[in-house]
Amino acid sequence: RYCAEPSSSQGIEGTERFDSPGKGRGLRALRHFAVGELVFACPAYSYVLTVNERGAHCEHCFTRKEDLSKCGKCKQAFYCNVDCQRGDWPMHKMECVAMCAYGENWCPSETVRLVARMIQKQKSTAERTPSERLLLLKEFESHLDKMDSEKDEMNQADIAALHHFYSKHLHDLPGEQALIELFAQVNCNGFTIEDEELSHLGSAVFPDVALMNHSCSPNVIVTYKGTVAEVRAVKEISPGEEVFNSYIDLLYPTEDRKERLLDSYFFTCECTECTSKSKDKAKMAIKKLSTRPEPEEIQSMVCYAKNVIEEFRRAKHYKNILFMCELSLEKMGTIFTDTNVYMLHMMYQSMGVCLYMQDWDGAMNYGEKIVHPYSVHYPAYSLNVASMYLKLGRLYLGLEKKSQGVKALKKALAIMEVAHGNDHFYVAEVKREIQEQK
Ligand SMILES: [Zn+2]
Ligand SMILES: [Zn+2]
Ligand SMILES: [Zn+2]
Repeated sequence: RYCAEPSSSQGIEGTERFDSPGKGRGLRALRHFAVGELVFACPAYSYVLTVNERGAHCEHCFTRKEDLSKCGKCKQAFYCNVDCQRGDWPMHKMECVAMCAYGENWCPSETVRLVARMIQKQKSTAERTPSERLLLLKEFESHLDKMDSEKDEMNQADIAALHHFYSKHLHDLPGEQALIELFAQVNCNGFTIEDEELSHLGSAVFPDVALMNHSCSPNVIVTYKGTVAEVRAVKEISPGEEVFNSYIDLLYPTEDRKERLLDSYFFTCECTECTSKSKDKAKMAIKKLSTRPEPEEIQSMVCYAKNVIEEFRRAKHYKNILFMCELSLEKMGTIFTDTNVYMLHMMYQSMGVCLYMQDWDGAMNYGEKIVHPYSVHYPAYSLNVASMYLKLGRLYLGLEKKSQGVKALKKALAIMEVAHGNDHFYVAEVKREIQEQK
């Protein structure tokens, strides 16, 4: 049984850290957890609000509300009140003066901003923090030996940016080797915080949450209450069972998931879903044509789809994305059905563009096509499915389609009550939206 500091470490009740066969350390349940039950909560060790959400959320507690007050100096950070502003100052001060000085040229990546905060936090805390009851930040895997040149270069660019934007206000930065390790650790142990519609709010490190190993058929889901991560059971968990989280989007077929996990997290997934591949056939649905497409034809279409998805990551302009989506949907639609995950990927992108351009009918049409196949491809409790029902429900209500709206919101609510818990303010908000229609 692991215990680094037996006297001070309290662990997490009902769970323990253990050596998972073939997976290194992991988290194991010591008692039964029912579906929807909170397994544990973990405050962020460090976190940063994404630049795009400035003014909509408090920088310190991530509360979403109107009428936040501005930092008088930089006028770019927003807070609930003086307490939140004071609480955030040790972190914000590194950026406040720099943002004024650099103006529009102040542009460190979110990873750089997060790492700067981690360094600052490390300097001010010598003891084990409440975020590290089972796993210390220092124990994070870095997988430095498995880094390719592309990852090395990105790492170097981040280190250069850290020096450039923070050296003035973050004195005695760690040495080169320590920084390389820190960035590598953040890349495979960092989390992104999303809201109930899965919009990106920020980045954070939650050491105890990072202790959980991955499964494509996870038994817990991580949601956020402000800057606190909450881990809830989405399957019954028996005493002695390992607690598994999912690190990736579970929409895609086994081969794609394995590729992604190997590339980003450096392991080969051998979970139950990767072994049974039970959903692959439905995820890769092919049209019933008079002449069956040859396997080579299907394979080349998959290659095409993956290339388009990769191009998307680089595309900056929404108009380009919509054009690419329409083109690829037309091409792939000659072989793939509308329930095929590559078709769904493109439709999801298209829906995002429609929402951005406030084309509500367009967004609704895509949402209607996406939501049912989503609920087949994803696990029973999935934030992707819940957020799709939520977006669709809100679109319906905006378009005065009351009964359809309420129906979709209720579907979202059923998942969120398990994943977010009954007392979450996102749940309360959806309940209120349903109530208002009565
Ligand atoms: Zn606040
Ligand atoms: Zn400021
Ligand atoms: Zn797997």
